[in-house]
Amino acid sequence: MDERVDLHTHSNCSDGTLSPVELASLATARQVAMLALTDHDTVAGCAAAQSACTAYGIRFVPGIELTCGWHEREIHIVGLAIDTESTMLRAQIEDTRARRRARIAEIGRRLEKHGIAAAEPCASLIAGNATPTRMHVARLLVAGGHATNTEQAFERFLRRGQPGHVPADWPELQATVASIHAAGGLAVLAHPHRYPLSNGQLRELCGHFKDAGGDGIEVSLAGLGPADADRLASLARRYGLAGSIGSDFHEPGLPWRPLGRFAKLPDQVISIVDRLRRPDSDARAP
Ligand code: MN
Ligand code: MN
Ligand code: MN
Repeated sequence: MDERVDLHTHSNCSDGTLSPVELASLATARQVAMLALTDHDTVAGCAAAQSACTAYGIRFVPGIELTCGWHEREIHIVGLAIDTESTMLRAQIEDTRARRRARIAEIGRRLEKHGIAAAEPCASLIAGNATPTRMHVARLLVAGGHATNTEQAFERFLRRGQPGHVPADWPELQATVASIHAAGGLAVLAHPHRYPLSNGQLRELCGHFKDAGGDGIEVSLAGLGPADADRLASLARRYGLAGSIGSDFHEPGLPWRPLGRFAKLPDQVISIVDRLRRPDSDARAP
């Protein structure tokens, strides 16, 4: 079967470029049979994506990608099959957004002190976007001629040790998993190979995530090398986490990160897709 799934995607409700409806339309063109929308700290696109997917006969999974803190690191947790109306999840979203706004405002002040007129643009970014991110600030720096691309903007201004670096204070890992569970969803550790962690630290993270009630781990990702693929599959087996599949799609035109992936997983890794195929209310049943 040529069917694909994608359980990690972004729309322009966060930092993607396609609208939720355009995303669903690309999914159908790519023969994606199951699609989750997992925007950063927002579920604003889920209703539109849901109806477009239903019209195309795609199984839609409402989702989110939440940022949390673990030992001073920034970790991303994807929530799948969530109730987007959940009070506890909404509270966590609001809390994270307040932290993001405070952080972006402080970045603007620090860059201003450094001689870049960034305080005002950052203030209007906060006013105009429910989920202002450092990526948006990086785009502002590029637009202002301070960097040639967003990667360079991060290197020169936003990373640790640079003038616009502001340490983040995110919700804890455990609280984040709890919010996803309170919303009836499954918690999945996102792109584990991308964190600046040693193998030992990554195992420690997986252990803590499992202890916090974590359900799954991304094992099939776009652009994953064979060594990392083996590493992630063995983490899934070792900690009893279900394997998830996603592209972390943000925009079309990046050939190395296309939307939709075949559902096959490494040996002895349980697929999270099977749990998502059950009726909505049963996703959390073991
Ligand atoms: Mn993103
Ligand atoms: Mn992420
Ligand atoms: Mn993502």
